[in-house]
Amino acid sequence: MANQYLDLDTLKFLLYEVHDLQSILNQSRFDDYDEESIDLFLDSIKEFSDRELFPFFQEMDEQAAHFKNGEIIVHPQVKKYVKLGGELGLISGLFDYEIGGLQLPGIVVTAAAYIQETANNHLPGYLGLTLGALELIVHFGNEELKDYFVPKMLTGEWGGTMCLTEPQAGSSLSDIVTSAEPVEGGYKISGQKIFISGGDYEGVENVVHLVLARIKGAPAGTKGISLFVVPKNRVSSDGTLISNDVTTFADFQKMGQKGYCTTHLFFGHKEDCRGWLVGEPNKGLKYMFMMMNGARIAVGRGAAAITMAAYQASLAYARERPQGRSLTNTGKKDVAQEQTLIINHPDVKRMLLLQKVIAEGSLSLILLSSKYHDLSQTHSDPGEREKYSLLLELLTPIAKTYPSEMGLLSVSNGVQVLGGYGFCSDYILQQYYRDIRIFSIYEGTTGIQSLDLLGRKISMDNGKALKLLSEEIMKSIHEAIEYNALAPYGSKLGEALKLTQEVLQFLMDFAKKGDYERFLSDATVFMEFFGNIIIGWLWLDMATKAHKKLNSGNAQNSQEFLNSKIHAMKFYFKYEIPKTKALAEVLTDKEVLTMADENELFN
Ligand SMILES: Cc1cc2nc3c(=O)[nH]c(=O)nc-3n(C[C@H](O)[C@H](O)[C@H](O)COP(=O)(O)OP(=O)(O)OC[C@H]3O[C@@H](n4cnc5c(N)ncnc54)[C@H](O)[C@@H]3O)c2cc1C
Repeated sequence: MANQYLDLDTLKFLLYEVHDLQSILNQSRFDDYDEESIDLFLDSIKEFSDRELFPFFQEMDEQAAHFKNGEIIVHPQVKKYVKLGGELGLISGLFDYEIGGLQLPGIVVTAAAYIQETANNHLPGYLGLTLGALELIVHFGNEELKDYFVPKMLTGEWGGTMCLTEPQAGSSLSDIVTSAEPVEGGYKISGQKIFISGGDYEGVENVVHLVLARIKGAPAGTKGISLFVVPKNRVSSDGTLISNDVTTFADFQKMGQKGYCTTHLFFGHKEDCRGWLVGEPNKGLKYMFMMMNGARIAVGRGAAAITMAAYQASLAYARERPQGRSLTNTGKKDVAQEQTLIINHPDVKRMLLLQKVIAEGSLSLILLSSKYHDLSQTHSDPGEREKYSLLLELLTPIAKTYPSEMGLLSVSNGVQVLGGYGFCSDYILQQYYRDIRIFSIYEGTTGIQSLDLLGRKISMDNGKALKLLSEEIMKSIHEAIEYNALAPYGSKLGEALKLTQEVLQFLMDFAKKGDYERFLSDATVFMEFFGNIIIGWLWLDMATKAHKKLNSGNAQNSQEFLNSKIHAMKFYFKYEIPKTKALAEVLTDKEVLTMADENELFN
């Protein structure tokens, strides 16, 4: 397999030039870092990924994690990765120095995780979940929980999971029934959780589950859900680790991400499972959702990474595969000529450019979301912190959904670039295609993200977040139209933004009349529409930065690199932005076809 899975120059261009890492490093929390030290850190992650992740990628698909004799068997590299990753600071990056963290900006941690996920999307989740579980304990746990769990989890000696889903409670977490009964020193936990990623594996001494459960007598619905730490093993009275009655009942065999285990867990099969409350009772879902922005951006990041890796693999193939001949001026093939490489066919170039705009546009969106997250936490001005927090809230469902949905289309085009070989196991494209499919389901499906975007985020705070985002987009448009070469694209984006207002006006009327079902019936179409515009904005911004660099004459990147960004932006505006008009037409069409009784529709 060619060792080509990432365009590090583009990642760095986006990080330093487009999203201005320096503006984050200027916050006092990051005084110990500068661009040079971040550059060295990212290079070391790339080198680590070349050595410890990429070589095992295909093998992990072939040797799927599986359940045998009551245990989950994973690829041996999981154990090595978790140990080395812990030592390298891949879990501790975000946390404060005081508790043993590295206090790195989130955008840098995101970039580091992205590099690893382009190399092998089956491995980083093991550490990513430990990080997620740890964040909940650090933010909401009491001192006792922190003292006990944080040190071992920070180093990766103990793993972590997020246990939300139950057989009857997937999208609808209000239906959770796992129970918690107060007993001396904690709670007795009882119930089952399904689809738990990284739920059990060799290589860690303990797995610490963050479990949503209902304290006996708690109110029904989301208001009665609490959060518990439930380790696989607990400490006995003599200080040794004993089983905490968390049983791995089975695993799920999947179409992709086969090296990343997915488990079915039972808590309290022998009525001897202990859990410890995190924060206050009945606030579990609220805590989970407070951490959800990070988790959702992480899902979008994983999809963006696979999209990039698939683009790199198909680009490498297209540069080597001879097939057919270029059309001559007469439109006839000259068989006396040698075959040309497929990259010379305009239709193959079109597919590769589509892959490129989705891959790099998704990456830009993920980095921007992480930047907003950083500034919402660390900016010295409280007003600015609030602004970035609102922008982050609004962008999060899009950052989760665009890379997942459009990434699948992008990878599908990658399979197509390889022709028949794209479908065959000898080549890696088919694995990327299977691996990326889960991302629009993880952490809330596309349907649920779309309800969140249109039903909550757009109108949040009387539309303040949308107003702020529109201002940011207008800033980019004004910057672009200063240059003759970019002005037409700035105008097109302005038109698309205007269209958004018209669409929202039409839809909001239903909400005002209390017809919420009609208001939200095409929320996923709205997500596609708005996501398209957001990526158009990010491409315009990228092209403007490239244009400025070209004009300045002192760019670090080559002229070819910078020109290719401007070219890709033009491609996006020719092939993708016009789709917003058709989507707007669908959204404002008065005919309703998805709300009739199912018996009328499916006969
Ligand atoms: C490989 C894998 C790993 C996972 N890892 C974890 C994990 O680590 N921890 C964890 O807790 N969970 C995990 N999950 C669970 C995942 O989050 C859920 O699968 C997901 O939230 C969807 O729930 P569901 O499967 O029950 O689908 P359902 O909720 O049954 O949804 C089915 C369909 O109905 C739609 N739908 C449902 N409700 C609505 C509505 N109100 N309006 C419109 N449409 C709706 C959905 O969009 C979807 O298309 C994992 C799942 C998988 C497959």
